[in-house]
This record gives sequence, structure tokens and C-alpha cells, in this order.
Amino acid sequence: ESWFAAAEYVPPDAIFALTAQYLKDPCPLKVNLGQGTYRDHTGKPWVLPSVRQAREQLLAQGLDHEYLPILGLRDFRERAAETALGSAIYSGREKLAICQSLSGTGALHLVGLLLKKCQRPLPKVYIPEPTWSNHHQVFRSLGFQCESFSYYDYERMRLDWDSYLSVLDGAEAGSIFIVHACAHNPTGCDPSKAQWREVGQIMKRRSLFLLFDAAYLGFNSGDLDEDAFAIRHFIGELKLEAAVCVSFAKNMGLYGERVGCVVMALNSHVIARNTQSTLEMLQRSEVSNPPAFGAKIASVVLGSEKQRRTWYTDLKTMSGRTREMRESLHDALIACGAPGTWDHLKQQSGMFGFLGLSPEVVTILREPSSSSHLRDAQFYSVYG
Ligand code: PMP
Repeated sequence: ESWFAAAEYVPPDAIFALTAQYLKDPCPLKVNLGQGTYRDHTGKPWVLPSVRQAREQLLAQGLDHEYLPILGLRDFRERAAETALGSAIYSGREKLAICQSLSGTGALHLVGLLLKKCQRPLPKVYIPEPTWSNHHQVFRSLGFQCESFSYYDYERMRLDWDSYLSVLDGAEAGSIFIVHACAHNPTGCDPSKAQWREVGQIMKRRSLFLLFDAAYLGFNSGDLDEDAFAIRHFIGELKLEAAVCVSFAKNMGLYGERVGCVVMALNSHVIARNTQSTLEMLQRSEVSNPPAFGAKIASVVLGSEKQRRTWYTDLKTMSGRTREMRESLHDALIACGAPGTWDHLKQQSGMFGFLGLSPEVVTILREPSSSSHLRDAQFYSVYG
């Protein structure tokens, strides 16, 4: 009898399984449309020039591989928090608790642990539908009851605003809402500034807690400050406590280096000091201390005006190319008479283009050999 007889077989994660399927597929026309990783015009991963320069600078200085402190690299933590919050809010940093994390996923997990430590009974966690699939898993694995709410109107291909408002109005006071700070994954559809303001009013009135998943700052507009509007509005103007889970995986292309940060905006400096020490204890028992290399790179990128400007240009390159791709896909679909309307593609922003295709069409695209359409040249000119 095994100690692990109770371990269930868990099917592979859908996104990573799709990537594995993609890698195995010999078709020369294949494109991986599942995983949220930026590709350059040759279809290859892109090392950002700002990151390349920072890496060279670090190597030239001589890089050691010592442990970081439990909370992470101080320079990185401070610059990451300032980047997400802006210098005005950051100037009140005594009310912040900041802890480096294993990218955005680790940040979400740490905030989950922190909420679990501080809230009894456990509040409900509201998660938009659709969303990045790991949101449910991270919070469920910590014992939270997760509730999906309709975020996207699949028929009209836009934000399901009425549902959003009614869920905010109906949620138990003290509930947690996970919101994508910008560039919603996978719909590419965010609230407008006016809508964010309305969300903020309700959250304040109803004492709801906002957990920002900020994995794509800069990817919407190429302008980080613009993309951080919601974060800064909630914390700076409404003076709400909030958690911000910052990831540099996408906006610096540091996916595998696991560079992220938890930034908690709190009501007082005593609470901030205590919260930061609790984060430190939680981090110690989880990973002991976070990885150094990526944090050093990010800290160099964020550390000087010159390097930052190079990064801003990189953000414009990535967000601009993504927008162009979406537009040319839209134009190609119209030009070849693809049925339906495609305007939603041009309205979306961020890394994702949410086509709104039926599961049947997706299957045909993914496995053309399963379909007689493969032999149809017309089909290839439309969808190939
Ligand atoms: N949040 C969202 C919305 C994401 O799309 C992702 C990655 N796809 C993450 C968080 C986590 O990313 P990472 O852990 O690589 O920073």
C-alpha cells in the first residue's frame, strides 16, 4: 500500500498541454495561439533590448550567485512598487508592504496565504469568467471558495457590464475580487476609465477587497502609467487597501526567470510593517528566498532613466506589433469574407486576441486532418 494511493490523476494543464501538442505537431504552418508569450516577426521569443543591455551590464560587473534576502532584492522591490503605483503613491511607501515573488503566480499565491492568515472565516473569492485558468487553482488550493462571475458577453463580444455591476452589488461585504489590472486575459477587454471609477465606488461602499493581477502593465497601450490607471485610482484616489500582484514575465519578456512582486497598499504604517513581516515569514516557509538573476535584470532596467526609456520603447514595440497583428487578422478575415463580424478584434487590447470562434471551428483549425476542410483550398486561404 502506497502512502500516495490517494493521489488522483490530474490531467495536464490545458495551456501547457496545448503547447506540448504544438511542439509535437510537424505541420510547417502551425502557430501557437494558446500560451501568452510574445513572439517577434520571425515567430521567435524576443529578448528585449533593454533586458539584453541590463544582462550585459550585470555580466560585465561580475555576477555572483548569493542568496537574496527573504523579501527579495531591495532595489528591485522598491522599483517594482514605484513602477506599478507611480511616484506619487510610492512617496507614501511607509504604508506599503512589498515582497518579491515567484513571478505573478507566486505573487497571487503569497497574497492568498496572507489573506488566509488574516481573515477568519475565509472570505469568498470572486473571479471573472473567462479568466486565466490558474486563478481558480491557486485560490482553491488554499481552501478559498471561488465564485465565477460573468465578465464577458460572448454574444456581443464585449464586457458584460450589467453582470459585473450586479455581482459587485450582490457580493457579501468583505469578499475578495480578483481583477485584471489591464489587458484582460483572454478577452483583451477592459473596463473604461469611467467604468473603473464606478467599480471603485461600489467596492468602497460595499467593503470589498480588490486583488489586482497586474501581469500585463504596458501591454495595452505601450504606456505603463496609462495601463496602471485602475491600480492608481483605487489606491491613490479612493484610498482603498488593495493587493497588487506584479509580474515582469510578459512586459520584460522574463517568463522563465520568475520575476514578480507583491505590493500591498495598507491603511497605516503599523499595519504595513506587520504585513510585510508576515509576508516575510510566509515567503520563508514557501521558497526561503526568491530567485536573484531576473530580479537583478529588472532592477537594472528600472534603475536608470536611460534604461527605462529603452524599456518603454520595447513596450511600444510589443504592444504596437500585437495591435498591428490584430488589425491585419481583422482585415484578412473581412477580405476573404469570413462569416460574422470581427470588429471586436480591433477593440481588444493587450496580448490577446479573443476571436470568439466556436469550439468546433477551433478543433478544425487545430487538427485540420480531422476535417475534410483540409482538402479545401478555400479553407486554407481563409483560416490557414
Ligand atoms: N495572471 C495572468 C492574467 C496571466 O495571464 C499570467 C500568465 N499567463 C499570470 C498571471 C502569471 O504569470 P507569471 O507567473 O508567469 O508571472
